[in-house]
Amino acid sequence: MIDVILKQGRHRSAERRHPWILSGAVAEVRGEALPGADVRVLSHGGETLGYGHYSPESSIRVRLLVFGKEPPGDSWLADRIARAVADREADPLLAGSNAVRLVNGEGDGLPGLVADRYDDVVVVKLSTAGMHAKREVVADALRRASGAATGFERADPVSARREGIAAHEGLLWGAEVPSAPVSIREGDLRFEVDVQHGQKTGFYLDQRDARALAASLARGRDVLDLFCYTGGFAAACARAGATSVELVDSSADALEQAGAHLAANAPDVRCNLRRGDGFRFLREAEGDYDLLIVDPPPLARRRGDVTKATRAYKDLMIHALRRARPSALVLAFACSHHVGPDLFRKVAFGASLDAARPVQVLRELGAPSDHAVSLDHPEGHYLSGLLLRVAG
Ligand code: SAH
Repeated sequence: MIDVILKQGRHRSAERRHPWILSGAVAEVRGEALPGADVRVLSHGGETLGYGHYSPESSIRVRLLVFGKEPPGDSWLADRIARAVADREADPLLAGSNAVRLVNGEGDGLPGLVADRYDDVVVVKLSTAGMHAKREVVADALRRASGAATGFERADPVSARREGIAAHEGLLWGAEVPSAPVSIREGDLRFEVDVQHGQKTGFYLDQRDARALAASLARGRDVLDLFCYTGGFAAACARAGATSVELVDSSADALEQAGAHLAANAPDVRCNLRRGDGFRFLREAEGDYDLLIVDPPPLARRRGDVTKATRAYKDLMIHALRRARPSALVLAFACSHHVGPDLFRKVAFGASLDAARPVQVLRELGAPSDHAVSLDHPEGHYLSGLLLRVAG
């Protein structure tokens, strides 16, 4: 066993079950720790804190997987994966869809592993050297736990660079790489997911609850779906009786798929697809709407981006409020850990003042239960949303 010994006083976060050991906390590594190696983590005084995966290139030097003195048994990784999958199967909040996140990294005590199920296909992202090294065990456990016919690993080049490992993509199990779109259902909605090339693992599963909420509000409304990707929100609203839907995204591929989703789910609803910059569209827009969904890409990937990002979120919100008819609803999102619910509320308040439109908060929103966040790892919280009603 390779030992990672921490500096004096740096054992507290591990004692509080936080899974990350940062490089600056490490005093010494005893033994030759290759990327992804299994290591034991000890306090400066020699007390065993837990066991984890070693990442020599990353500023997160160890991801702790098991806490306490007891070494993990041989099957702990497979057992934990099986538990995560079983939790989803037993979760009534996830009924009605055959597309769910099965494993959510740190949220499931499995740093470096994300697995999303799309019907009979499981799409896997391995983002740490440790999970790369465990690829076969992970694949076998996911195959057995999910019963899915195909497992496909999507490359994660950003993480691979951070970890100093080669990005990898390919079939994990099953007959062939899923090259045709996978059909999924969400309530009475149907979507086609390109698991090979689509954003994230193919679809924004994390907006499932918000899509259902938007649908429940959409009847008789003119809807704007800004940053629409493949039109999940717009299709949900159109099917639920929206009068019209207008969609904006910068990606031609996403818009093409959005058009197909609208045709399949709500062929009779007036829809307008626009390719372009969402920020600019909203600044220059002339139309008015009764329901505006504003779901931009992450604007603050690092803490240092927060000031700039809050300005951009506020700018978007101001212009959204200007395009809102009296008593219109706005569903606005920030998907960055660094812009949390409190800050996002402040952004909305600032925008409401600048746009001279009083606003009520009807609901705070976040990711659904398959994207569970562990209390041990608050960094896992990234999606903050607000349902707002604009004064008449
Ligand atoms: N609402 C979508 C997810 C949005 S993700 C859903 O529920 O499925 C953010 C989207 O913004 C992506 O589709 C991306 O293509 C698009 N995007 C990124 N930058 C953009 C820009 N400057 N203008 C318009 N769209 C942009």
